[in-house]
Amino acid sequence: MPKINKCHRCGATSYKPVIKRDESGTMMPSGEHQCVGCKLVFTDIDAWRTAPVQKEEPQVEGQKSAIGPGDRKQCNEHPG
Ligand SMILES: [Zn+2]
Repeated sequence: MPKINKCHRCGATSYKPVIKRDESGTMMPSGEHQCVGCKLVFTDIDAWRTAPVQKEEPQVEGQKSAIGPGDRKQCNEHPG
């Protein structure tokens, strides 16, 4: 199965380097790339080819660890 260089969003098969103007007015490649189709800007070709994996962090309740006592209360109360 060959790897296909293709945008995961719009299906465009090419991208171009992003050129930004320097302080001195010189046009320099910023190291980023932009999809020619959906204008998605990315630095990793992988991020262009495949959709970024969204990390789902499950909320752990009542987690007790060896962290020192950091009893910070939310400011949900106004005295007076
Ligand atoms: Zn695209």
